[in-house]
Amino acid sequence: MSTTDTNPRHTLWLRTVLAASAVLAAGCVSLHRAPSYGQPPAQTAYTLWVGPFAVRTLEPLDEDGVEARALREVADEVDAILGSRPVHDPIEVFLFSDRGRYEQFLAAHRGKLPYRRALFVREGARRKVYAYRSSRIARDLKHEAAHALLSVRAGTIPLWLDEGLAEYFEPPTEDRHLQPDHVRELIRLYDHRLWRPDLERLAAIDHVADFTRRDYAEAWLWCHLLLEGSETTRREVVAAIERDGGRSLPQRLALMAENWPNRVLEHLAGLRVLCEQLER
Ligand SMILES: [Zn+2]
Repeated sequence: MSTTDTNPRHTLWLRTVLAASAVLAAGCVSLHRAPSYGQPPAQTAYTLWVGPFAVRTLEPLDEDGVEARALREVADEVDAILGSRPVHDPIEVFLFSDRGRYEQFLAAHRGKLPYRRALFVREGARRKVYAYRSSRIARDLKHEAAHALLSVRAGTIPLWLDEGLAEYFEPPTEDRHLQPDHVRELIRLYDHRLWRPDLERLAAIDHVADFTRRDYAEAWLWCHLLLEGSETTRREVVAAIERDGGRSLPQRLALMAENWPNRVLEHLAGLRVLCEQLER
């Protein structure tokens, strides 16, 4: 595997991807024992029902707009890939009209939590997503809504699996769960001997503050391999989530096969080729 790439178009793409990654470093945060966020009164003027989501906005929201389509899409994808499950209590999505209003709300409510572009918060039985309209809103909503849907299924699941799956469900459907920025970043790190796949290391990270951009990328890669690699591994992921929220998944994988790091690296090499084909 090599990052040598003399194609100027690819080099430009890589630069763009790295710039985007720097923005992405803000990432998201998924909070299961959060301080109370209360109800943002300015965001409750309108509610649009989209599948299991109640989308609260200040202005009426187009039911065929980018936000509603993203939420419908992620609900359908999670059901299709992990199996359909009923959502009894609606997941509230507080969609702010701009970054200023969102930051104003966070400043008043988030306490000492780090700033994130979007949030998923669980307060008892209530599940809430907070986000603001931007050029990334569809991805932000898909990512946070995936956390919310996983939380409905399994309560608290391990950080690596939670973030890996959210990253997996984040891209638009037509991108086939690919995250080219993660592919490029992992290949660069691997070529510089700065990274090798290590699920034991990844699964030992408990706190989101310790979860780096590299960890998001590796978590996504494991989930991509497990869900796309074979029907057997996909079923294992689904069964582990049902059984114990996915906590036993690393042990189950160790029993299923050896040489997982090599499998992951082979999968990464294949994804690099796929990404380059799609870019042409
Ligand atoms: Zn996340």
